Amino acid sequence: MIDLRSDTVTRPTRAMREAMATAVVGDDVYGEDPTVLELEARVAADLGKEAAMFVPTGTMSNQLALRTHTEPGDLILMDRGSHIVLNEGGGAAALSGLTIRGLDGKNGIFSAAEVEAQFEPPHRFNPGHLMPSPRLLCVENTHNVGGGVIWPLEELRAVTDVARTRGLVTHLDGARIWHATAGSGIEERVFAEPFDTISVCFSKGLGAPVGSALVGSEPLIARARRFKQQYGGGFRQAGILAAGALFALDHHRERLGDDLVHARRLAEGLAELDGVDIDVRRVQTNIVRFQVTAMRAGDFVDGCFERGVHLLPGGEHGVRAVTHLDVGAEDVLTALAVMADVLAGA
Ligand SMILES: *Cc1c(COP(=O)(O)O)cnc(C)c1O
Repeated sequence: MIDLRSDTVTRPTRAMREAMATAVVGDDVYGEDPTVLELEARVAADLGKEAAMFVPTGTMSNQLALRTHTEPGDLILMDRGSHIVLNEGGGAAALSGLTIRGLDGKNGIFSAAEVEAQFEPPHRFNPGHLMPSPRLLCVENTHNVGGGVIWPLEELRAVTDVARTRGLVTHLDGARIWHATAGSGIEERVFAEPFDTISVCFSKGLGAPVGSALVGSEPLIARARRFKQQYGGGFRQAGILAAGALFALDHHRERLGDDLVHARRLAEGLAELDGVDIDVRRVQTNIVRFQVTAMRAGDFVDGCFERGVHLLPGGEHGVRAVTHLDVGAEDVLTALAVMADVLAGA
């Protein structure tokens, strides 16, 4: 099976398993796991911040950021197609009592003007306390639902500038920040610079089995640690997992460029097929989103699945394919041939 559903489906390599099996460990709840501490120091330095905290999932990392920055009733702003809006089980409302205002981004990228437009001009007939208090702006880079697009740095700085001017704090969902770097040549720390906190994932394209980190200033991460415990995220000898993440940073970061080449090859092949609608310019990293115009996405992915290619349907005609560690150049060509067959009704 060529599994293109997500870059989360990778399995740890033998060498990664070995690094995990031999990891030096301690009790992370007491702050005593040397491998967790090493990973946290490494990630904080890579992202140019003071501190980092290792957590089980990217969802927990994002939710801890929301909890850390806000109080119940606050308003938070982000693209309406964000992972936090669509894929975190309503956590923002359930765990932090927040109201989300979804911004109308294009492929997940919204403008400074749109952020600015969320603020009512003050007037004595409009008491400010009627509104939920705007507190936090979140950005997702690369943007998953947007098709893995990379935020242009000027846009990123422009929206965070407006946020700061308006007294908001900022959080970056950088689950695939490594891919933004691989695709743009801009270092992770440069993307991270305008943000108070950043969430990163080791379990996506980097290929670790488990783990994410929340990164930010010492005081913010100290506050977030309290909520990590509250959410049940204190995981004792987590160094076994941190060793997988460290291995991924050491050995799988450089090769992310291969995934980008494979995704582009896939997109270019798809663009030549009848019955496929795809914007190749949108394929900037390892995610390929396209429409099958002549059939339902569900039927298309069923047909591909029967022939050994696993894809994810999204909506009536939308399909997602993601390249990763376990997908080689040959697999891309095989997948293209299978998709062509299914579209041709073969
Ligand atoms: C996968 C993902 C997350 C959360 O990751 P989990 O570890 O699956 O909870 C957050 N944000 C984005 C953009 C993602 O793609």
